[in-house]
Amino acid sequence: MNTGASSEVRAIALESLCAEANSCELCPQLVASRSQVVFGSGNADAQLMFVGEAPGASEDRDGVPFVGASGKLLGDLLEAIGMTRDEVYIANVLKCRPPENRDPRSDEIVNCSSFLRGQIELVAPIVVVTLGNFATKLLREDDEGITAIHGRAELGSFGQRTVWLYPVFHPAAALYRRPNLELLREDFARLPQMLSDGPPKQSAESASASEHAPDKEAQPARADGAPQLDLF
Ligand code: URA
Repeated sequence: MNTGASSEVRAIALESLCAEANSCELCPQLVASRSQVVFGSGNADAQLMFVGEAPGASEDRDGVPFVGASGKLLGDLLEAIGMTRDEVYIANVLKCRPPENRDPRSDEIVNCSSFLRGQIELVAPIVVVTLGNFATKLLREDDEGITAIHGRAELGSFGQRTVWLYPVFHPAAALYRRPNLELLREDFARLPQMLSDGPPKQSAESASASEHAPDKEAQPARADGAPQLDLF
């Protein structure tokens, strides 16, 4: 895969990756329960990409990620930083809806991960926002929970592409718990500066700290100091 390719070439490769996903039958339970594969949507040449968990009922019906209540909140959060859904690219860890909206299983995540890695490499964004625990743990290749690391950017490598990985709470977690919404808004507010700073200059291997990581002292993981479960 050539990440130096023109946007047209990358868009064509993304379409063929989508066609491959549409015919994927690696996860028998998901194949049996899905209405359709929900590959991703938005600007295939976006500077900002979001990765959620998996399609829900609305996404399975429409074939587009984040069209339900979480999607409405995602749209509002984007609007608050002066952006629209059309400007960004949105995908999920899993491309098929898990039955009864259960959590993605680890074998399903493994089966699906080459599609997501391909999407990141082909869209070639500056920042990949990982929404919640599933996307964050998968793309950071680490088990650290979102509560501890939200709002802290670090470098990630996907093929020849190095991007900022930026973990934030999943919108569903913010709908469920009001303090998470405040933290999510604060984390979103840093995105315009990250984008205007441009692509990372270091390689992921050489980076131990992030120029975009906020001061930990200045940003407690919890606004009210109470213990919190990582639900998403
Ligand atoms: N809708 C999605 O597409 N992904 C999520 O993670 C949640 C809702």
